[in-house]
Amino acid sequence: MAEAAKTVHSPLVTYLSMISLLTLCPPFVVLLWYTMVHADGSILRSLDYLRLNGLQGFLSIFPRPSLIACQIIAAFAVFEAALQLLLPGKTVKGPISPAGNQPVYKANGMAAYFITLITYIGLWWFGIFNPTIVYNHLGEIYSALIIGSFVFCILLYIKGHLAPSSTDSGSSGNVIIDFYWGMELYPRIGKHFDIKVFTNCRFGMMSWAVLSVTYCIKQYEQNGKVSDSMLVNTLLMLIYVTKFFWWEAGYWNTMDIAHDRAGFYICWGCLVWVPSVYTSPGMYLVGHPVNLGSQLALSIFFAGILCIYINYDCDRQRQEFRRTNGKCLVWGKAPSKIVATYATTSGETKNSLLLTSGWWGLSRHFHYVPEILGAFFWTVPALFTHFLPYFYVIFLTILLFDRAKRDDDRCKTKYGKYWKTYCDKVPYRIIPGIY
Ligand code: NDP
Repeated sequence: MAEAAKTVHSPLVTYLSMISLLTLCPPFVVLLWYTMVHADGSILRSLDYLRLNGLQGFLSIFPRPSLIACQIIAAFAVFEAALQLLLPGKTVKGPISPAGNQPVYKANGMAAYFITLITYIGLWWFGIFNPTIVYNHLGEIYSALIIGSFVFCILLYIKGHLAPSSTDSGSSGNVIIDFYWGMELYPRIGKHFDIKVFTNCRFGMMSWAVLSVTYCIKQYEQNGKVSDSMLVNTLLMLIYVTKFFWWEAGYWNTMDIAHDRAGFYICWGCLVWVPSVYTSPGMYLVGHPVNLGSQLALSIFFAGILCIYINYDCDRQRQEFRRTNGKCLVWGKAPSKIVATYATTSGETKNSLLLTSGWWGLSRHFHYVPEILGAFFWTVPALFTHFLPYFYVIFLTILLFDRAKRDDDRCKTKYGKYWKTYCDKVPYRIIPGIY
C-alpha cells in the first residue's frame, strides 16, 4: 500500500493529501455532527457561526470525551471483540499475500451481527438501556473516537516496527507514509485476534448498523412515530450491512484487507469515519422527519434493494469465479477469462484468473456503480432541502473513483501485459461507454 501511495500520484500530491486528511478529517467529523444535530443540517448556518466566532467558537463546540461516551465505546468494543474471539465459525483462508503468506480467519461475522442487533434492541425493549443515550452523547462519542483511534494508530505504528505479526510488513522509510498507510498487512494480537477484522468489520461496519437503529429509535422516542423516510433509510442501510456480514469472508479478499495496510487510512477511517460520515444521512433524518407517502417510499426502497443486490452479485460473481478456478457459470455461460501470471515479492511465480464476462466484462470496476447508487437511494428520502445528507454519496463517489485508479495501477504493476490484455478487452474503468 505504501508502494501504491508512492506511485499512483506525484509525491507532492501524495504528501499534501495525506497531511490534509490527517489534519482535516477530525475537525470535519465534529462539524458534521454539529451541523446535523445543532444547526438544522444547514452548512450555511454552521459557516455563519464559524465566521462570527472563529477558532474559539469551533473549540467551544468541540465536545470533550465524557466518561459516559468512553464507557459506551468500551462496552461496545469489548462486546464485539469477545464475539469475534469466542463465537464459533468456519475456518476460511484469505488470499495469498504479496509476501506469499495466507492468513486464516474464523467466519463468524453473521452470528456476531445478529447477536449485536438482538442484544441492542432487546436492551431497549426491556428498558435496560435506551439507545437515545447514544444519540444524546454522540458528539462526545465522536470526539472520544477521534482521539482514541489516533492513539490506536500510533500503537499500530509502534507494533509494526517492534513486533510485526507476519512478514507482510515493513517501513517505507518515511514516518508519515508509515503512519498514514500503515506498516502491517495482517496485524494480530496473539495468533487469532485479527486487528483489521476488528476495526473494519466488527467495530466499523457493526457501528453503522447499531447507529442506524439508534437514529430510528431516537426519532420514534422524540415524535412518537417513525417517518417513512427514516424507515426507508434505516432498512436500506441495514440491508446493506446485512449483505456485508453475509459476505464478510469475501470482504477478506478485497483491497481493504488484502492490499491496504493497517494505518490511519484504513483503521482510523473504519473506527471514526464509518460511524460518523457513513451513518450521517440517518443522523440528519432524526430531526427532519420527511413524509414521502407510501408510493414514493416503496419506489425508493425497491430501487435501493436492487442496487444493493447488483453490488452483491458483482462481488459474488468474481469470488465464485476465483473459488472454482473459473469452472462456474457466469450469466448462464462458461466465463471468458484471462490466465495471468505474476511474481510474489519473494520471487515465486503464481497464476491468477481475470474474469472478462458478466459484470466484470461491462467495466473493470462496474460494482462501484450500484454501490454509489445504493447510497444515493438511502439518502434521497431526505429530499433536497439541505445538501449535507448527500455528503456521504459525494465522498463515496470520489473515494471509489480514486480507488479504481489505485487498483488499476496496482493490477498493472502486478499483472503487466496480462492487465493490458484485460484493458483492451474491457476498456472502461467504471461506467460502461463513458469512463
Ligand atoms: P475488489 O477487491 O472486490 O476488487 C478488486 C480486486 O479484484 C483487484 O485488486 C484484483 O485483485 C481483483 N480483480 C480485478 N479485476 C478482476 C477480474 N476481472 N477478475 C477477477 N479478479 C479481479 O474491490 P473493492 O475492495 O474495491 O470492492 C469490494 C466491495 O466493497 C465492493 O462491493 C465495493 O463496492 C465495496 N466498497 C465499499 C466502500 C465503501 O466505503 N462503502 C469502499 C470500497 C469498496 P487480485 O490482486 O486478487 O487480482
